[in-house]
Amino acid sequence: MKNFPMFLRMSGRRVVICGGGTEAARKTRLVLKTEAEIVIVAEDLDPELVGLVASGRATHLTQAAPDTFANCALCFIATGEEETDLAFAALARAAGAVVNVVDRPEHCDAFTPSVVDRDPVVVAIGTEGMAPVLGRSIKTDIEVMLDPRLGAFAALAGRLRDAVAEKIAPAARRAFWEWAFTGAAFDKHRKGDEHAAADMLKAAIAQGQAPETKGRISLVGAGPGARDLLTLRAVRRMQEADVIFYDRLVDPDVLELARRDADRIYVGKEVGAHAWPQDKIDALIVAEAAKGLRVVRLKSGDPSIFGRAAEEIAAARAAGIEIEIVPGITAASAAAAAMTRPLTERGETDTFVITTGTCRPADAAPDWTPLARPGTTMAFYMAVDRAAQIEAHLLASGVPGDCPVEVVSSATTARERCLTTQLDGLAQALERNQMTSPAILLVRYAKGHAAMAQRPVAVS
Ligand code: SAH
Repeated sequence: MKNFPMFLRMSGRRVVICGGGTEAARKTRLVLKTEAEIVIVAEDLDPELVGLVASGRATHLTQAAPDTFANCALCFIATGEEETDLAFAALARAAGAVVNVVDRPEHCDAFTPSVVDRDPVVVAIGTEGMAPVLGRSIKTDIEVMLDPRLGAFAALAGRLRDAVAEKIAPAARRAFWEWAFTGAAFDKHRKGDEHAAADMLKAAIAQGQAPETKGRISLVGAGPGARDLLTLRAVRRMQEADVIFYDRLVDPDVLELARRDADRIYVGKEVGAHAWPQDKIDALIVAEAAKGLRVVRLKSGDPSIFGRAAEEIAAARAAGIEIEIVPGITAASAAAAAMTRPLTERGETDTFVITTGTCRPADAAPDWTPLARPGTTMAFYMAVDRAAQIEAHLLASGVPGDCPVEVVSSATTARERCLTTQLDGLAQALERNQMTSPAILLVRYAKGHAAMAQRPVAVS
């Protein structure tokens, strides 16, 4: 480490900005977030700085006076002239200030990091000048991770520190703060109910301990595979979870988002194997939540679509366990994105149908005939092995043989493959191109296409 990160005290101190141009204005904007007194030394000021001086937040000097750098914590220099820059740097250093000469690293005592500001929580990122662009992109990642209301909640918790020290025994404090920053009070605050959050914290303090955490189950949509297609809420639930149950289609990358000490339990069904019947999964997730644990049941795509969520919801309700759905991006959306073609096209396809090729073992396949209308995009899930049946059924229902079909397998993963073909010969095309499960078949029966096609007489 060539530079050591520290946080400088700013309240009651002065920051001097030497220079009045756009660079000076940029540095001033950073300093504005602090409580420091701001002094700008420059002959001419950028309009933004003029406004700031007019508002009284900053003082303007056309030249440095002998006491300009007194009590100066930090001095930014950006006059644009090397000689002037160095003269200011010498004056500031002589007064004991930390100096940053913009764009002249060799004359800097300190460097400005990329900052994520959730005051009083502040994250500073530095790359020692090696990769500023990387620094900014890390900043973006952290901005996304940290809830915008985190700072206000941390400030509220900070105001209660003394009360905690007084009312909660040292042995129970750690558990209290853990609950405070991950539990129901923070959830309330995030949803905008600051008063309820404060009341919950105060009630717990009055009790002398964190309330017992109630277990809950989250059915979380993991999306089609790519890690960055999870929602922010899904990521949060993963990080809060004590135990995660996942299945076959969930990408290992996605599991990496879990807390290191969370249990991860594979409940996937390999084709043909029945190690994890649904009722066993239902019983297990309920039993874990009943212990007071936060359970995530991670499901590929959207949990509400062919995800057997209904059984799990019923089991949780029967046991009086809180359960929620965190929606995800379903495979059909990912398939459309892979083809860069929307699922509905104005005037051509204004109905979108989600259906499956595979039902419960004893059930007949769905009747697709009423769905096979002109103006419809049909997304078939779990359909690779049933392609021949689907093809025959749709042709018999009057869908033209040259109706376009797109097939996308393992959408959004490194194994993604796309095929554009037509209804007639679909099963053969899948085989010839070795398109394997998991895949989505998108049958696009446009209105215009129907007008051109000759409809067969017999429909079976
Ligand atoms: N809940 C999931 C669907 C589960 S059923 C969702 O909303 O996407 C399993 C079927 O989903 C697979 O047979 C396949 O048809 C489809 N599927 C899941 N992930 C997929 C992916 N990455 N690419 C293409 N199809 C996928």
